Amino acid sequence: MFSLNKCASPGCPAFVYKDTGYCYHHNPDKDAILASLKKQLEDGSGVRDVSIVNAEVIGVKAAKGCTIMASNFSFTVFEDCVFESAAIIESFFDYCIFRRCTFRSDDIRYSVFAGSTFIECRINDSTVIHNSFMGIDAYDSDFSANDFYFSNFSLSKLVDTSMEDCNLKRTNFRASLTKNVSFRYSNPEEAFFRKEEGYTI
Ligand SMILES: [Zn+2]
Repeated sequence: MFSLNKCASPGCPAFVYKDTGYCYHHNPDKDAILASLKKQLEDGSGVRDVSIVNAEVIGVKAAKGCTIMASNFSFTVFEDCVFESAAIIESFFDYCIFRRCTFRSDDIRYSVFAGSTFIECRINDSTVIHNSFMGIDAYDSDFSANDFYFSNFSLSKLVDTSMEDCNLKRTNFRASLTKNVSFRYSNPEEAFFRKEEGYTI
């Protein structure tokens, strides 16, 4: 698990990066930290127990089989990134922006994407169970062919985003807003919707 110690910079509420005493932003080695993150993703050595908040991760193609474990990337922007056959476990991506990112054949569980925005993203052929997508905004995205068992999309806004051929058993869509969302070949009847919030198939 990433350290819950606060940054030594006065007034900074962010968690420290490893045991450096400072958060990513107040770290004198900020550029090296980001470079090391990209390298660990791209060479497949993986990322574990780090907190890097409010960063920009652009154009990273993670090596197949790469693991992200017990880490924190809140408020980070991910653009044109690919995570294929990756495992993302117990990690925080709350209030992130994902633009043109691809998650394919991944194992994503016990992770938090709450409050994030997904624009032109793809999550396909993946196990995406027991995650929080509370309050996300998704536009022009494709979330098809996934197992979303017990994931939570309540309070989310899903627009022009398909969720076809997904397992939606115990998936929570309460108080969500869906527009042009196709649930074809999925099982929304086993998900949680409020009665008055109809879905379309
Ligand atoms: Zn700081």
